[in-house]
Amino acid sequence: KNVNYKKYIPFFIMSILTILIPVIQSLFTDLYLINFSISLIIFIMYFTIENPDVKMIEQLNQAKDAAVKANQAKSDFLSSMSHEIRTPLNAICGFSSSLLENPGVSEEAKEDVKNIIMASDSLLDLVNGILDISKIEANKLEIIDTNYNFYKMFDELVLFTKARIGDKPLEFKYSYDESIPKYLYGDGMRVKQVILNLLTNSVKYTKEGFVEFRVRSVVKNDIIRLIISVEDSGIGIKKENIEKLFTKFERLGVEKETTTEGTGLGLAITKKLVEMMGGNVAVQSIYGKGSIFTLSIDQKIVTGSELEKLIENEKNEEKPSDEVINASGKRVLVVDDNQLNLKVAERLLKAYKCDMDFASGGSECITKIANGEKYDLILLDDMMPKMSGSETLVKLKEIDNFNIPVCALTANAITGMKEEYLGKGFNDYLSKPIVKEELNRVIKKYLKK
Ligand code: ADP
Repeated sequence: KNVNYKKYIPFFIMSILTILIPVIQSLFTDLYLINFSISLIIFIMYFTIENPDVKMIEQLNQAKDAAVKANQAKSDFLSSMSHEIRTPLNAICGFSSSLLENPGVSEEAKEDVKNIIMASDSLLDLVNGILDISKIEANKLEIIDTNYNFYKMFDELVLFTKARIGDKPLEFKYSYDESIPKYLYGDGMRVKQVILNLLTNSVKYTKEGFVEFRVRSVVKNDIIRLIISVEDSGIGIKKENIEKLFTKFERLGVEKETTTEGTGLGLAITKKLVEMMGGNVAVQSIYGKGSIFTLSIDQKIVTGSELEKLIENEKNEEKPSDEVINASGKRVLVVDDNQLNLKVAERLLKAYKCDMDFASGGSECITKIANGEKYDLILLDDMMPKMSGSETLVKLKEIDNFNIPVCALTANAITGMKEEYLGKGFNDYLSKPIVKEELNRVIKKYLKK
């Protein structure tokens, strides 16, 4: 009863042979068929009913396939959820920041708003973490190498850590090897992300004393090994827990201490990313005394004409700016499929006093331009259903005399994106949630009278 349908065929053959062969053998006694037929019958039985191993292997394979599918479904779910969560979160961050600048809001309310911003920032970190882990598990995370400015990265990390420390009684020491060249070739965003993770942890798990951030280097030919260490005088890690550190969702002994926010994703991501970049992470820690996390990552040194080009570009590059210009009389079109995002953009653009118009999709934007509407700048979201921003741009460029600058808006903030969008023909690029200083720069560049 348990033999499946396809296996009936060998089973029938076996039954027929069992009867037929003794008959043939008895008719033709010269032939020696018995040995051959017994082997054949055993062979057939082995692959049909008798062998539990074959059956088990089959069941295991089925179970494995089901598990792989379920894991894939989980990764897909996580990734689409994180994208979905980012949009309302973008709205929360955007509206809260604009409330902070509203003179009509009382100081007391502003304190609440600051807390809302802090909470949404950590929610954003969390969502980004989930997005990273799901990409890593689906093998979709890529290391994208570009040229980056090491010193700029270092300064940003220091600034960020100082802000994180706030008024905690912590001394923050930092230093780097002066011989490190200014421009390196590697995935600068990811290098920054992993260091930031270590710095954030050190600040989080140290009540008093110090946090020290050091970058040393070893050069071999055109490769520089960055040896990055983050040391603290914090709670430290028990010996038996060090192994568990890099396991996702694992948090050590903080279960009862609900005040320390975190998910246990940070170090799992850090380790994977560092390994993908060909480097490694090491930990030394004494429980109750403090810890040192050390990363070593190889990056290429940029030289020759490439370097000259970078230095030239740097001279021409406009910096993010604090200046909010008056752009009255200028007209901006914002294209986004999400109504909340349009409202956030409206709020953020209000400061520049420009005229605004909105479109909720690529085709609406194209119709407006084709009907002769005039704008000085278009902010175009890339991820839209039906027609993406990039597709919309191609169609816009087909319209006669189209020469309005177009800036891409995207939640895709990974390295190399800026270059990719500029390559597609966009004039500029802004990542969401929109950073005010970046928006100031774009508005100044395109709407200055
Ligand atoms: P999270 O900080 O979100 O909990 P991580 O993966 O970054 O997740 O860290 C995992 C665990 O490792 C933390 O919960 C904490 O117990 C421990 N840990 C990480 N860094 C330090 C540190 N500098 N000092 C003490 N413990 C640490």
